[in-house]
Amino acid sequence: MELQFLGGASEVGRSAILFKGSKHIIMDYGIKLNHKTEYPMPLGRVDACVLSHAHIDHSGNFPFLYKEALPITYGTDPTKELSQLLIEDSMKVGKKNHQPPKFNKHNLHSMLERYASHEFGEEVDLGDYTLTLFDAGHISGSSITKLESKETGRKLVYTGDFKLEPQMIQGSADIVKSDVLVTETTYATRDHPEREELMKKFVDEVKETLDAGGTALIPSFAVGRAQEILAVLHKSKLTDFVFVDGMARKATQIAMRYPEYMRNADLLHDAIKKIMWVGSEEHRGSALAGSSIIVTTAGMLNGGPVLSYLSKLNQHSKIFLTGYQVEGTNGRKLMDGKPLLIDGSKEVIKTPWVFYDFSAHAGKSDLYEYVRKSNPETVICVHGDQKTSEAFAEALNAEGFKAHVPRQGDTIKLDF
Ligand SMILES: [Zn+2]
Ligand SMILES: [Zn+2]
Repeated sequence: MELQFLGGASEVGRSAILFKGSKHIIMDYGIKLNHKTEYPMPLGRVDACVLSHAHIDHSGNFPFLYKEALPITYGTDPTKELSQLLIEDSMKVGKKNHQPPKFNKHNLHSMLERYASHEFGEEVDLGDYTLTLFDAGHISGSSITKLESKETGRKLVYTGDFKLEPQMIQGSADIVKSDVLVTETTYATRDHPEREELMKKFVDEVKETLDAGGTALIPSFAVGRAQEILAVLHKSKLTDFVFVDGMARKATQIAMRYPEYMRNADLLHDAIKKIMWVGSEEHRGSALAGSSIIVTTAGMLNGGPVLSYLSKLNQHSKIFLTGYQVEGTNGRKLMDGKPLLIDGSKEVIKTPWVFYDFSAHAGKSDLYEYVRKSNPETVICVHGDQKTSEAFAEALNAEGFKAHVPRQGDTIKLDF
């Protein structure tokens, strides 16, 4: 058996791993959004596809696989609906930015038609292999993939993006025993702040902003982060002040249809009964009228309704960044004190900002714990920048694991 890394190796973005045994199985086929969209390498024969979760760095180029063939894609129900939402949005954004997608609506339709939904723990027969999905604890429907050889009993586990420490909405990732572990390494060299403490500080600062008569503007990724933030605000009895705008609305509605994929569906259910949904420019004005909390997309300020709020905030307001801000995005520019690019013109934003690390990825300690408990012979480090992945691999080698950091296009031969 061989594994080929078509993207997401020594980098974060465009995750794509090809399993080449008696069947060719592609695990994720995403894009990397930069100044220019980057794609995973093309591939030949595909017999089956697995989609770990909806985020565009895993799902973004998936419909491309349906240009010349009609393989089955395996994943969970929420992943199907959430990836449709995100792929359709990225098609729109791509066209607007003169970077049209490499596939059309028809290909996306074929992908959705050939999608086989499976629950966590359900065994799926793939000829010489058995496929099982487990909870990855990252976002709604996110899964860890296990491929087991029927002949040898050897197991390959691909973590996708995962989190061990439970969040408010998503529970802890399942630890799956493996012989070969392909793991994400986004934060392999540092730990996230203690979550309880982080939430308390965040809530206190939001309250201070409200008391001062300002707006707490909370740019959030639509899928995952927005729901987590709503749950945090609801638990602190702040939902009476909350407005939700942009794609976060649809993503929350989809997540709510699958309460079995949440640790705390009731909390989100109660939260959305109290919040106000914003859908028009007129509504946006009333959201800014007094002390308010606005949860909206895009999480990195690179588009979406958040931009129309930015220049209208009063002097008591504050911007709460809740996720990693990629180089080149407006969010990063804000953090670096540079002017933002809004509708083609440069604008200086004077509103103060704060950053809260609500990451849905495993931190350093979680990653070590996962590898040790999964207890493979071979560990393959992906979905991390090269330095980070290499530092992690080196530490694992010192513990007696055989760890590798592949580059784009590399093939690794494995006993399976
Ligand atoms: Zn993700
Ligand atoms: Zn990812």
